Amino acid sequence: MKTLIETAKEDYITLEIRSVAAAEGIGADLLRERIAEGSVVIMQRGECLVGIGAGLRTKINVNLGTSPGKGNVAEEVEKARIAGEFGADTISDLSMGGDIDAIRKEILSCTSLPITTVPVYQAAAEIGLRAMTPEDVIDSLRKQAVSGISSVVIHGVSLDMLDALRTKKRILGMVSKGGSITSAFMLLNRCENPYLEQFDEVISLCRRHNIVLSLGNTMRSGCIHDPPDPAQIEEIRQNVRLAEVAHDNGVQVIIEGAGGHLRMDRIAASVKYYKRQARYPLFVAGPLPTDIALGYDHLAGCVGASIAAAAGADYLCAITPAEHLGLPGPGAVKEGLIAFRIAAHIGDISKYQQDGTDRAMALCRGALDREGQIVRSLDPARARELAGSETECTMCGDFCAIRIMREFS
Ligand code: SF4
Repeated sequence: MKTLIETAKEDYITLEIRSVAAAEGIGADLLRERIAEGSVVIMQRGECLVGIGAGLRTKINVNLGTSPGKGNVAEEVEKARIAGEFGADTISDLSMGGDIDAIRKEILSCTSLPITTVPVYQAAAEIGLRAMTPEDVIDSLRKQAVSGISSVVIHGVSLDMLDALRTKKRILGMVSKGGSITSAFMLLNRCENPYLEQFDEVISLCRRHNIVLSLGNTMRSGCIHDPPDPAQIEEIRQNVRLAEVAHDNGVQVIIEGAGGHLRMDRIAASVKYYKRQARYPLFVAGPLPTDIALGYDHLAGCVGASIAAAAGADYLCAITPAEHLGLPGPGAVKEGLIAFRIAAHIGDISKYQQDGTDRAMALCRGALDREGQIVRSLDPARARELAGSETECTMCGDFCAIRIMREFS
């Protein structure tokens, strides 16, 4: 069966393309062209279609999932519910604890959003880093591919990239979990990356199950004092090479990059560097422009992600206040998601001048229309709670600037 890329290359506008084009307010033929060239992907799960890439609204992914010995199904289901209620576009189930297959099944059954997984997590959690074999790594991908997921992350780390990492001393070395598991496996077994060795099988599974391939950001910086270095440049080259192979074989592909911890003045440059190297949608985790916001990393991440989105990032991975501290609970997931919805919106205002909703809010504010502002807010329940029982804003009392100028102008 032909894939979406192959039908798009034949000038055929599928129902999926028509539906996403209508939702995004762009022409169906333009969207078809972008899918054909790879600058847009459609992540699909049943009737839920999420377009990601050039010219489309910046999308947000929410991470959830258990860690070894922490978390339970009910809490993960609640996080998935929150993700849907508060406007996430996709969910990544990163479970590494408990019955991972059962948890994924529960999450799939409680949300209609597309789900991404990282198969090497499950292989490492269930078999153990030292015991697993290259075939176990691929089997984990095989098992997850048939379970109803819409996207899968592999880390394309190579022995050359690990060499490049050694040439530059970093304070924090490698901080990607999937990347470090994959790298440790390679170093332990003195072998190449099983995903690279069996990339044909990776492509075949993605193709067969309509899965978007997401190429992970193993080499991202873990602190702002670890600037972009040769390992990161090599990772971009490697991911672009893999993306070309995937795309040529009809598999939709996203590249993760410019994430981690990155000084504010380097964020836009990193995104633009990536965009010069590749046309594929860019997925960014963070970036955090400071290392000191422990407990408030969702706010630091919101700043970094706003800049990244404005510079061209297409897809953001939300960071929660629990980052670097522990497994986030449902409340922290919600706070992270709202912060990243703000970031995506700020980015879209800059990218596309999409400021209609801001104008509507400003008009309500000027009219002292409290209810109008509350219902237009990202989280009306939160706004209503802060408004309390007062019928008007009490911040300035009799010295409300808007009232004063109404009276005197
Ligand atoms: S009271 Fe102050 S903060 Fe509130 S609406 Fe008036 S000017 Fe704005």
